[in-house]
Amino acid sequence: MSRIDSEARSLLLDRREALRRAHPGDGGSLLSDGIPVAVVADQVARELAEVDAALSRIAAGSYGACSSCGGPLGLQRLRAMPEARFCLGCSGRRPADD
Ligand SMILES: [Zn+2]
Repeated sequence: MSRIDSEARSLLLDRREALRRAHPGDGGSLLSDGIPVAVVADQVARELAEVDAALSRIAAGSYGACSSCGGPLGLQRLRAMPEARFCLGCSGRRPADD
């Protein structure tokens, strides 16, 4: 496992723990600020899925490559956003996806 892989892996594992704690669970229907719990739970679940997908890419040895063009994501981008799937160029072309 390369250095960036293991660095990203520990960031992602921390992030997964934080997301699990942030998950509002199934109780109640509104948070204190009026946001439906289902919406927050949805966002948290989506982020958890991204984090899990990134961890699988690390395990598969394909971490750090853009899922669209196959180019390198770059150290800075991976450090800022370890679950990123697309390079800056590709994520700019797919704003809804990244
Ligand atoms: Zn790309």
